[in-house]
Amino acid sequence: MPGASGTAEQSASPSGSSSVLEIPVLPAELLDTIHFVACTTTPPRITISASADDEDDAAEELAEWLWMNGAERPFLVASAHGQQLIHRITGVVGTAVPGPHATQAWARSCSGAARGADAVVAIGGGRCLDAAKLVAAGAGIPFIAVPTQLSHDGVCSPVSVLPRTVGGLTESLEAVAPHVAFFSQPTLIRSPFASLRAGIGDLLANPLALHDWKLASDAGLEQINHAAWHLSAESFRLIEPLLEEPLGPERVEPGLIGLLAHALVTSGFAMMTVGTSRPVSGAEHKISHAIDELFGGRAHHGAQVAFASLVSVALHDLDVEAFRCCLVNLGLPYHPRQLGLSHHDMVAVLLRAPNTRPGRFTVLESAGLGESEAAVLVKSLWAEV
Ligand SMILES: [Zn+2]
Repeated sequence: MPGASGTAEQSASPSGSSSVLEIPVLPAELLDTIHFVACTTTPPRITISASADDEDDAAEELAEWLWMNGAERPFLVASAHGQQLIHRITGVVGTAVPGPHATQAWARSCSGAARGADAVVAIGGGRCLDAAKLVAAGAGIPFIAVPTQLSHDGVCSPVSVLPRTVGGLTESLEAVAPHVAFFSQPTLIRSPFASLRAGIGDLLANPLALHDWKLASDAGLEQINHAAWHLSAESFRLIEPLLEEPLGPERVEPGLIGLLAHALVTSGFAMMTVGTSRPVSGAEHKISHAIDELFGGRAHHGAQVAFASLVSVALHDLDVEAFRCCLVNLGLPYHPRQLGLSHHDMVAVLLRAPNTRPGRFTVLESAGLGESEAAVLVKSLWAEV
């Protein structure tokens, strides 16, 4: 489970480290004061199925685990991916299938039906979990997460990202975080490989978000929360060894699933600690949101974030080529054309990005890019675009 203690020294990359993305050193004035980090937020308890290859066995484990965790009368929110896991669950009060177009209104409409249950259990991908968080919040009952994909770090966050209307722009809403989560190894091992890549991609943002947070702190705009800082850094360190070699489907095994699950939960816990996405989301998320707003989602959220991180790496004066190699190794997009975007499109994205989350100071605001500066940056990153 994610720990909540650490020392300031642990947060700094050792001098001379070959890390692709170095985690910044905490501001000097904080170093004397951080010996122990106390955290008042309780991390979600996670369980990974003992069964690694038989989904029926994992379904049986899940049913027993739910009962042991007090969900004797659950309301299920289950996507198509989750159907194989639900058939052993007993005492079900009701079931809802959110589908790919679930909206905030859909979630609200389910809350009434869920009120007689003792928990909302979400079994599915990101949209399913996000919808179920709102159902649970509306019904005033606990939320239990059973993710069937590991594509982003929102599994254990208190934030629900859903559109207001079908096809509309998504909004981030405060909902409820799970207090427990179950990871079915057979389900996750067979999940689309692109979703696992995206999950790793989302965590590449963490060191860059910390660089951005430090910028805001140095500018006197924000205070750094030490516990959240350490959790975000720890989350990235868990997946850092994966960045060194090409990642193909043959490397997907139980160890990788467990590692990524812990890293994503730890990242979510960093958000829970401060109640916002600040420790894990900076300029690279703004750029991904700008792509969504201007051109519609072009890839998994985590894949877009990883691509956008190239811009943050350049603006923070970090090693662009090493990071580009890392994206290639992971099979994540490293060039706008892989997202169907042109040079001109990317300039528009960079100009739009600061507006996607006003009030969050990042390296984009620090750089204050105008149209000509954005064009120069795009050309320097992707000369042949
Ligand atoms: Zn993200």
